[in-house]
Amino acid sequence: MTSTLITRGALFTGSDRLEVRDVALREPGRGEVRIRIRASGVCGSDRHVLEGDWQMPTPTIMGHEGAGIIDAVGDGVTSLEVGDHVIMTWFYPCGTCTSCRQGRTWVCTGSRSEECLLPDGTTPAAVDGQAAYPYLAVGSMSEHIVVAEQAAVRVPQDVPFDVAALIGCSIATGVGAVVNDARVQPGRSAVVIGAGGVGLSIIMGLALAGASPIIAADLNEEALELARTFGATHTVRSGHDLPDLVRQITPEGADFAFEAIGRPETIAMMPETLQRGGSAVIVGLPPQGRPVPIDALALAEEGKTLIGSNYGSTVPARDFPMLAQLYLDGKLPIDRLITNRFALDDVNAAFDLMRAGAKGRSVLVM
Ligand SMILES: [Zn+2]
Ligand SMILES: [Zn+2]
Repeated sequence: MTSTLITRGALFTGSDRLEVRDVALREPGRGEVRIRIRASGVCGSDRHVLEGDWQMPTPTIMGHEGAGIIDAVGDGVTSLEVGDHVIMTWFYPCGTCTSCRQGRTWVCTGSRSEECLLPDGTTPAAVDGQAAYPYLAVGSMSEHIVVAEQAAVRVPQDVPFDVAALIGCSIATGVGAVVNDARVQPGRSAVVIGAGGVGLSIIMGLALAGASPIIAADLNEEALELARTFGATHTVRSGHDLPDLVRQITPEGADFAFEAIGRPETIAMMPETLQRGGSAVIVGLPPQGRPVPIDALALAEEGKTLIGSNYGSTVPARDFPMLAQLYLDGKLPIDRLITNRFALDDVNAAFDLMRAGAKGRSVLVM
């Protein structure tokens, strides 16, 4: 006899207005844990789902950037206990595929995260008796959720929940792109296209790595001002003239370019901002079915590299505690990224603010 917890979650049912409703959550099964969620970031990826850019099973419990407290554990759980503070990962590793055994969990082939399913192929949630799917098997825009044990990583209790939530997506993605993918060395130059949540996280990572100059590009003056506070040494308000503007600052072009918007047009522009031998890192995720034209001849002749960066090549169990400690040590000012806080019931207002072009990150607090 299993008991069901009635909780509340923000549901996507096909419209861009979410509905906050009762959700029936079964108890955590073998290898699963239940989390009392305390904070969920409002990320551009959630918005992609709301706008219909990416297909998801519905109803979807939105949110994939969350943190909270373990409040129940299933059989066989060894790494977590009730009361642990955890950050959730939106790509839980299966632990057994070739990639996982090589330690490359970010390219795990056995995870069912993208199907919004637990490792055993089930979903723990139901609405009106019908299966509901936690987005990326996280569903953090909910008061409680059941996830795979390996989808939750314990962090020190002195990390605030809203900061912890952001580590789970935007910080891991942005800092990871710099540290794990581009492996930026001190003194190297970099341009960051887009100064939203992920772009600012990239800038934080570049500052941590000692890159210089760090050039932030955006169309919004407010975003550029924010970028300076996170370590951008130069800001450019630019469109198609970006490659020229970058060369006014670093005449041969930059060592690295990061695209953090997910616009095919700006992704295509990256190689032109680079010096010979430079690397362009694709971090922002474009809509499905939108190929990007790249001048392959120029890329080859100039020895440039194009890097696809997914989740900053993050190994959650390794990187989340490290990023949390960097925050506690004052090396990553993650708290300053949080510009707005909303209650779960006001989730649509948070998305409206994002649509209106608000800067920094909104967090739902529960
Ligand atoms: Zn995200
Ligand atoms: Zn795997």
